[in-house]
Parts: sequence; structure tokens; C-alpha cells
Amino acid sequence: MTENPLYDALFAPHAGRDAPFLTFADGGTLTYAGFLALVDRLAATLHAAGIAPGDRVAAQVEKSQASLALYAACTRTGAVFLPLNTAYPDEEVQFFLRDCAVSLFFCDPGRAPTLAPVAAGLGARVCTMAPDGRGDWETVAGPTNPTGTTGPIAPRGTDDLAAMLYTSGTTGRPKGAMLSHGNLLSNTRSLSRLWGIGAGDVLLHALPVYHSHGLFVASNVILLNGAQMLWLPKFDAAQAIRLMPRATLMMGVPTFYTRLLSDPAFGRDTAGHMRLFISGSAPLLAQTHAEFEARTGQRILERYGLTETSMNTSNPLDGPRKAGTVGLPLPDVDLRIAPGEGAVGEIQVKGPNVFKGYWGLPDKTAEAFTEDGWFRTGDLGTLDQDGYVTIVGRSKDLIITGGLNVYPKEVEALIDAADGVLESAVFGLPDADFGERVAAAVVPVPGVQLDLDAIQAALAPRLARFKQPKEWHAVPELPRNAMGKVQKNALRQTYS
Ligand code: AMP
Repeated sequence: MTENPLYDALFAPHAGRDAPFLTFADGGTLTYAGFLALVDRLAATLHAAGIAPGDRVAAQVEKSQASLALYAACTRTGAVFLPLNTAYPDEEVQFFLRDCAVSLFFCDPGRAPTLAPVAAGLGARVCTMAPDGRGDWETVAGPTNPTGTTGPIAPRGTDDLAAMLYTSGTTGRPKGAMLSHGNLLSNTRSLSRLWGIGAGDVLLHALPVYHSHGLFVASNVILLNGAQMLWLPKFDAAQAIRLMPRATLMMGVPTFYTRLLSDPAFGRDTAGHMRLFISGSAPLLAQTHAEFEARTGQRILERYGLTETSMNTSNPLDGPRKAGTVGLPLPDVDLRIAPGEGAVGEIQVKGPNVFKGYWGLPDKTAEAFTEDGWFRTGDLGTLDQDGYVTIVGRSKDLIITGGLNVYPKEVEALIDAADGVLESAVFGLPDADFGERVAAAVVPVPGVQLDLDAIQAALAPRLARFKQPKEWHAVPELPRNAMGKVQKNALRQTYS
């Protein structure tokens, strides 16, 4: 019996199981047995392509059952799975492929004309995989024997790499975060217990699978429990509302929740039966939390993590879910707030979930840890008397104006509370005098004409002068990436 921690826990137990795993919007179903057969076909492809344990297999493909099966096949073969955001243009893809010294690259047939030569130039083999999962990968294992041979299940230890995800790289070049079998499995087990996931759960899965949220947090807990997913290529509020009666559980970024709320058809009738709504990857406004509860009777459970660590904290399933906080450290995660200004400091964590470092960047890896071995998240936070963590901002978003620190979130909270404001982003702009000056971008509630002077006047008595924005911009929406994160870099670029 070989040992392969992730494959043994998440995939192997389901071979031949005639129970639904993925169901689709059109009512179609893929059973666990069918999924494992697909995994075997992809494993045969990897085997025929000469992939050995530790080799990097990258994929820039649309979400499908086959793209999920590729993750499983890589685990089985011992390869390091490297999913790439479909939004990356050719030039960025080229950087990733070269950086990780890719051996095999799966791409969308539409991108193959430009990307295949790039990958081939780097000495990698290229396969296509279309949004329906079909592609020339199906012929690699040999046309006469399309199933081919899967090759052996690679023996792996908990410290061996299972995946590598490039961090969004809001500053500097993206870095490949190396995640081991032990990292992913320990987190999956913790979250599964914490959220009470069981075989009867049906997860409405509308997240992308090139990011840790959709790939690991969501899919892994379902696989561990032999539960089901309602597998949607992307999030569409009307479709989610229509299909929600078939689900028990939803995981989303905050944008999913605000979009659901903006549909008048969404309420207790559609959401009242659900066991759990989970939010993460970006801050969920306390106001959204309250509005969601008023409409549906459901209290969204917010949790917090990073690509490098998977999940670190979660609000409890049973027990108070505090709006505006990201909850308590997971049972196997140690968390501390490094000494900072007053109660605010950098959130640092230690535990089996913490990654193995950045690929090929020993110096960046060393910088990411304190001398006594804690991972520096770069997030600023506070702890309340019950141990709940509140995120106050990113240390790199911290504005230093005339030598004084301004935490954007403090200013944003006051702006957001003003009449007619939907949301805001506060950021620093270069300033000859002060180093940086505080600027604000404000989004009005639809149909409302913003009175920026009135908002400014309302802030004046409540906030030290140096924290008050010196520059105000009304904008129709904030720039966000696919995971719902506000891109302050884009704002800084626009208004510099
Ligand atoms: P990523 O590596 O793309 O998952 O991004 C990780 C970052 O997302 C964290 O460092 C946080 O800044 C942010 N983040 C994740 N979850 C939350 C949350 N629940 N509330 C606020 N920020 C979050």
C-alpha cells in the first residue's frame, strides 16, 4: 500500500462509488466513479507524457470537471499542480511557465496558437483542454488505447509538494507559493470539522478553481466527506438563486453576497433552508452581513486565509459569528498580533497549514518569516477580548503621511457610514511635502448624487486632521480582481 496523503484521503476512497459528486445547472450528474475514471485518464496522459513526481504541471484552462480531475491526477502522479488564472495574458503566462520550469502545460485551444510555441520553447509539452474538458490531451496516452496505463500512485510524504499557486503580486513580481500534501490536508481536515461538513452536503460552487478558495477550501472539504457540488462555471446571481433550493451550503467572495442582495427575488424563500453561507478572500462589510440576515435569517460565516497558509481563522458554526471579524484561529493554527501601534499589529501565524516557501526565492521566503519562525501575513489586525480577529488593513496599504500612520480601513468605515455611500477605498498618493497624502474613492448608492463636501464635513470632527482625505473622487465602482479584492494599486495609478 503506497502512501500519498492527499490522494489517499480525498480521491482514492471514491473509486467505483456510484454516488453523485458533481451536478450541473442542466440537471446532469457526474458520479464519483465517473470522476475517478476521468482522473485515471488524465493520470494516463501524465504518465505517457513522462511526468515524474515533483515535476510541475501547469494549467490555464476554464473551470470544468476535467480541470478538477487534473488536480487529482497530478496528486496521484506526484506532480506539482500549478493552476493559472485565465485572465493572465500570454506575457504573464510565459513568466510563470519559465519561472517554475514547467514540464507539461494544459491550455485552452483558443490560446494554443500563441501559448503552445511559448511552452514548447521552454522545453515543455503542451496539451489542449477546452471548457467542456475535451482536448488533444485525450490522445496522448495513445489512440489505440485511450485509457492507457495510469502508472503507479506515487508515494509521497506530508512535506512533498502538491501544488504551487502564484500570489496575486499586488507589489513586486508574483511569487510561487509551494504547498505540500500536509499543508492542504491538515487545513481540509480542520475546516471540515469546524464547519460540520457531512456526506449530505451539497455545495453551490461558483468560484474559480485557479485560486485557493475554490480549489482547496471548497473542493477539498467536499471530497474529504464524499459530499456533492453543484458545479457552475462562474457566478451569476439569477442562476444561483434558481439553483439554491438544490444546495445546503455556499462559499463565496463578498461580491457574491452583495449581488444576491441586489436581486429583489432573493430572500427567505430561496435561502432559508440553507445550512451555511461562508464568505472570504476579501472583507465582508458588517452592513452586508446585517442586510443578509435581515433578508434571509442567515448569519454569514466569515473566515480568513491567504494563498500561503490556506485558512487561518473562522467564525464558529455554533457560537457567535461576529460581523466585521474573521473569527477565531483554527484549532491547529497559532496566531499572534505582533507589537505595533496601540492594539494594531501584523497578524502572524504558525501551524501545519503554513506553506513551504516561495519557489526559487530563498530570500523572499526568509523575509516572509520572523526570526522565531512565524509567518508574516502582511495583514494588520486586532484581537478582541474573546480572541476574535479583526483585519484592519494590509501593511502595504498603510499610508504614512508626514511620518504618521493612517489605516485606510478606519477612514473607510466612517465614509461608508455617510448617507448615500455604498462603499469606499482610501489609499495613499505620492506627495512632495508629506511623502504620501490620503485620497478617497467613493461609490454612491445607485441613483444617489454624492455630496462629497458634506461627507468631508461629517468626517472632520471625528478624525484627526492628518487622517482626513485631502483628495476625493466619486467613482461608479471600485476596481476589483476576480476574487473581489479592491485593487488599490490601480487607484494609485489612476490618481497619481
Ligand atoms: P490571497 O492570497 O489571494 O488569498 O489573498 C490573501 C489576502 O486576502 C489576505 O492577506 C487578506 O488581506 C485578504 N483576505 C482574505 N480573507 C479575508 C477576509 N475574510 N477579510 C479581509 N481580508 C481577507
